[in-house]
Amino acid sequence: MIDFGFAINKSGTINLDTVDLSLYNELCLKEPTARLCMACGSCSATCTAAPFSGMSLRKVLLDLQRGKDIKPMMSACMLCGKCTMVCPRGINTRNVLLTLSRIYHE
Ligand code: SF4
Ligand code: SF4
Repeated sequence: MIDFGFAINKSGTINLDTVDLSLYNELCLKEPTARLCMACGSCSATCTAAPFSGMSLRKVLLDLQRGKDIKPMMSACMLCGKCTMVCPRGINTRNVLLTLSRIYHE
């Protein structure tokens, strides 16, 4: 094979028809406001845990809709509730996070 000095990255495309949405659907069943997220990022910008852990509720919700594993990021949340106060869609973000932890512990 000829070495061109660069490599083409693996495709990052996600097939939304085949991803496992069971966790996201279970969350929306238990906390229906989770569906209202418009990914504005206000929660991430004000998150207490973000500066030292990279925690982002916005990313948690987006990754859930893409069938990705969100467990490592979830462990950084300290349930302070700041994200609930800033969410423009009125999402009960604290309960979203609590519900996700409960689902994981079941
Ligand atoms: S409840 Fe969790 S996600 Fe929300 S601001 Fe606090 S640490 Fe961040
Ligand atoms: S602040 Fe609310 S609407 Fe905005 S990304 Fe966070 S959860 Fe979604």
